[in-house]
Amino acid sequence: MAMHVKLLLTFILISCCVQGQSPYGLHATTMTEYKASIKNHPEKELVELKNVIPGIVLDIRYATKNNFTKAKVYNLARAYARKPVAEALKKAQADFNQLGYGIKIYDAYRPYSATIKFFEMMKGDTTYVASPYKGSKHNRGCALDMTLVDLETKEELIMPTEYDSPVKESWPSTPVDDPMIRKNRDTLISVMEKNGFRVYEAEWWHFDFIGWDKFEVMNIDFEELEKK
Ligand SMILES: [Zn+2]
Repeated sequence: MAMHVKLLLTFILISCCVQGQSPYGLHATTMTEYKASIKNHPEKELVELKNVIPGIVLDIRYATKNNFTKAKVYNLARAYARKPVAEALKKAQADFNQLGYGIKIYDAYRPYSATIKFFEMMKGDTTYVASPYKGSKHNRGCALDMTLVDLETKEELIMPTEYDSPVKESWPSTPVDDPMIRKNRDTLISVMEKNGFRVYEAEWWHFDFIGWDKFEVMNIDFEELEKK
């Protein structure tokens, strides 16, 4: 390949990355674009769930090695979501509190770079990770991975599987024999669906905000959000 062609390809690759274009052809919002977008659309702001929802418990697994990658993916343990998502979750928290439960978050907004990493680790199998060609609803600040805790003890309620288990028992449609586990899972799903979310068909812990398509995929890391 001629040197000037190589230089041109290198230039295209670098400018794609700088402008937020991924090698999968998806444009992910950069910090500069995000700042401009929230001026006209304040509902697009990413807010920290702990500032909006009293008593919410965080266990951000990708900021630890306790996740399916066995590696620390995030440098900071943060749970951000778009403003209307956080407001809907606040209503769900009030409903759960009435039942003696509280929300524990495993993951919320996830930078697009993490979605690429998961996809490449799973060698393209998208049953349990999102495709970087479309991006994840987590990348839009519109999905939550979560469970319930006892309001008093903060102990997790028993659910059909551990978080991120790639097994059929994780599917909300899989029957559960144990009445307590069935009640816990069904309570989580029914209260979330009443408050504007939809459970993902392969994961009892994953909820998409209805209206997610109005929000773009973003590639802004937690350190950048902290600086804003
Ligand atoms: Zn999820």
